[in-house]
Amino acid sequence: MDTIALDSRLRHAGGFLGRRSGMLIDGKLVQAVSGKTFPVYNPATGTVIANVPEGDKADVDLAVAAARRAFDDGVWAKVGPSARGKMLWKLADLIERDLEELAELESIDNGKPYAVAKVADLPLAVDMFRYMAGWATKITGSTLPLSLPGEYLSYTVREPVGVVGQIIPWNFPLLMACWKLAPALAAGCTVVLKAAEQTPMSALRLGELFQEAGFPPGVVNILTGFGETAGAAIAAHPDVDKVAFTGSTEVGKLIVQAAAGNLKKVSLELGGKSPAIILPDADLDLAISGAANAIFFNHGQCCCAGSRLYAHKSVYDKVVSGVADIASKIKVGPGLDPSTEMGPLVSDEQFSRVTSYIEDGRRSGAHVAVGGNRVGNLGYFVAPTVLEKTTPDMKVIREEIFGPVVCATPFDDNDLDAIAKRANDTIYGLAASVWTANGGTAHKLASRIRSGTVWINCHNVFDASLPFGGYKQSGWGREMGAEVFHNYTEVKAVTAAL
Ligand code: ADP
Repeated sequence: MDTIALDSRLRHAGGFLGRRSGMLIDGKLVQAVSGKTFPVYNPATGTVIANVPEGDKADVDLAVAAARRAFDDGVWAKVGPSARGKMLWKLADLIERDLEELAELESIDNGKPYAVAKVADLPLAVDMFRYMAGWATKITGSTLPLSLPGEYLSYTVREPVGVVGQIIPWNFPLLMACWKLAPALAAGCTVVLKAAEQTPMSALRLGELFQEAGFPPGVVNILTGFGETAGAAIAAHPDVDKVAFTGSTEVGKLIVQAAAGNLKKVSLELGGKSPAIILPDADLDLAISGAANAIFFNHGQCCCAGSRLYAHKSVYDKVVSGVADIASKIKVGPGLDPSTEMGPLVSDEQFSRVTSYIEDGRRSGAHVAVGGNRVGNLGYFVAPTVLEKTTPDMKVIREEIFGPVVCATPFDDNDLDAIAKRANDTIYGLAASVWTANGGTAHKLASRIRSGTVWINCHNVFDASLPFGGYKQSGWGREMGAEVFHNYTEVKAVTAAL
């Protein structure tokens, strides 16, 4: 086991980090069957903050068996919709009670500023459980008029899809867990969730909260472990009815292949290369700070980050210098330092990936307007970066970087179809933002952009009621809102001859 070094600024999470936490399987907190653990790093320093269970196929088998029993024996179904909603609400209360502890865990594990975790990630996580608690009693079918001769009564019911496997990424560790768990549980499914190996801490703490809230054994199982072992075992498991995945498009394709064995249902929330489009009539102060936030929020580690910035040539210089100015003033530092505005990238691997994209951009002729460098020599800090003179064939503008790097490009079209064509020139289709003072233009452009979300004069606005997901290679299905229940329910049509 690696030696643990905790940050002296921790005020709430030291206790949890200091004790041996377990995965939640069949209602118990357990270590891996193999007895193995793996180290978890603080990305601000590269030091180890905990050793956590390395779950693999054997642990997945136990968790799936527990979830299968809880589903097949009707354990969760018998709780009933209203009481299920009440339990989800209880869990929200517990997350809220421990908000500071969980925000600290997110900060030391993922790198994000504590203050951001506290005001952004955590409240949304709480709200997700409260919003979905309300849905538990409202998942209904309909009665259907038949055109056949004779008399029939036909109706549909929405039933839970069964045992759900959920695999989540590291960019919003707790929030992603809550996005996935809350609707599946509201729908009456039982769940096996695997946290990302880079950021398992808040998921482990969440497992304890599920236990405290009194969820019946097997209904929720939370594992830590690696993608190639534990994740792959979930995706391929014959007793899992559905897999919900958030992560890279490459791994999304592997999930689809693994799911083919028993044709389990699949929903995917994958990568993006989202455009922020600034029209000449936009409120420029708003658009400049909005475009900066679109890429620099969460260090650009958002699947919907506004990583392609298109500004009309009449405002382009002002926009680029404005965004570059904001970038140069962002205070980069450890997430637990109260003055920090941007923390480190999540891992050494991510640091190498982002810096090699910047180098590749430079080599292929992009101009670094600001940033482009490492910050300090400890941890995984990268300066907020603006690239100019990028051409449509460059890797930096085609591929998802998943870091604080934006490619700025001027356009001189006034024709909305031509502007939309640029925005749509990507394999992805997750999100876009449009900045203009003209409502008509905004909505016309919104209808021409092929992505699951279009923001007008804003970016990165999330709410539990808003469906989120991608067109094209950004994924299958939608998370949140009423739409998410298509992921977690089967529709049954019942017809009676009268
Ligand atoms: P990133 O490249 O940003 O780390 P990934 O798509 O690799 O994102 O990871 C997202 C999640 O998918 C993580 O929980 C990871 O463990 C899991 N994962 C990675 N590879 C596989 C795989 N082959 N099968 C199932 N899950 C995987």
